[in-house]
Amino acid sequence: MKVLKFGGTSVGTTQRMKDVVKLIDNGEKKIVVLSAMSGTTNALYEVAGYLLKKNTVGAHETISALEKKYYKHIDELFTTEKYKNLMSEFMKKEFDYLRSFTKGVFTSFEEKIIVGQGEILSTNMVYNYLCEKNANVSMLPALDFMRTDRNGEPDSIYIREKLTTLLKADPDRDIYITQGFICRNVYGEIDNLQRGGSDYTASLIGAACDAEVIQIWTDIDGMHNNDPRIVDITEPIHHLSFEEASELAYFGAKILHPTCVQPAKYANIPVMILNTMDPTAQGTTISNKTEHKLFKAVAAKDNITVVNIVSSRMLLAYGFLRKVFEIFESFKTSIDMVTTSEVGVSVSIDNDTNLDAILSELKKFGTVRIDKNMCIICLVGDLDWENEGREAIATEAMKDIPVRMISYGGSNHNISFLIRADDKPRALQVLNEKLFLIQNK
Ligand code: ASP
Ligand code: MG
Repeated sequence: MKVLKFGGTSVGTTQRMKDVVKLIDNGEKKIVVLSAMSGTTNALYEVAGYLLKKNTVGAHETISALEKKYYKHIDELFTTEKYKNLMSEFMKKEFDYLRSFTKGVFTSFEEKIIVGQGEILSTNMVYNYLCEKNANVSMLPALDFMRTDRNGEPDSIYIREKLTTLLKADPDRDIYITQGFICRNVYGEIDNLQRGGSDYTASLIGAACDAEVIQIWTDIDGMHNNDPRIVDITEPIHHLSFEEASELAYFGAKILHPTCVQPAKYANIPVMILNTMDPTAQGTTISNKTEHKLFKAVAAKDNITVVNIVSSRMLLAYGFLRKVFEIFESFKTSIDMVTTSEVGVSVSIDNDTNLDAILSELKKFGTVRIDKNMCIICLVGDLDWENEGREAIATEAMKDIPVRMISYGGSNHNISFLIRADDKPRALQVLNEKLFLIQNK
């Protein structure tokens, strides 16, 4: 079994839906996970936002605008009267349902139901389009098998059991269509896996049915080794390990959510990132294999603030770091990079909402200094410490750029430099030249 996930832009127009169908209707057995058409989930959050503020007029207007678009989609997608009628009835029911929320109480419980309707719409459109074309297709409602446990984490045992039962009950299909993003919580109420959660759905399904591969179809040809908006020549990375992919996802590559690949990683199922606009391109394969290529990619994280605390009390003292970290914790501010010396510690944060309060607490412990408008440059690759000289190559490449902090040794795959945001374009460019265009050749 293969699992294929198509994101919002890949099903964003009826033409794109037709392209998706061309890709999936090839006789191979697969589960297809679909996001909502791009823009729909945002519109549904807008509706919910109006209703939470008791503005029913706003909600009605947004629902009507969405409804108009979807009726147009039916006209464009379907050719037979039978399916046009069937889908018009379906849309009528769906939009009546959405409007029913404008009456009565509206809480976050109802909000969860509303924002999940985008996936119900997109999957029904693609499913019925496949039926119209006489494909051997079946619908697997995500709400029948996707569930979280009492900690709000996916309940993988339940998911596996339910999915297996559903597949056994209808075993001879080529294509099973299901919704990304939506699930039930431990009480059976409708919930979701957070914004962008369809990748997570695909990864969970892949693990639950022991898929041979999980394909994430988007509109770029995989992850690139540098930021194409800044650097002229970047290349798609053909292979990454799960660890490298997580580091990159965290440090700025917006293609995959860092936690999404975890179920695939534990089940040892390769995840491929492929391009619907160029389906034959190689894309990026993420697996448990580490490729012994020195440097794989560079990513940058912006809007970083560095906080430096120097205290003679740190000298030979224990518990100092704990006290410092507790202050950040109490203001729900997570720390990205840390460097220490015998008398001081520097940490970086990407959320300075509570900075003033944090600083005033820290000043009880020592002299505090901050640097704003900084950026983290993260280099990912095979950086096992026992392979001598690797960190030297990275620092040598950065030799003309003022470096505020360096972090190395936190994992075997990463070295990070903290620099001024103004120096970011120059740093990305120089790393590209020295590490990819020369070093790796
Ligand atoms: N439709 C949801 C969202 O926009 C889930 C997804 O696209 O992955 O967040
Ligand atoms: Mg998405």
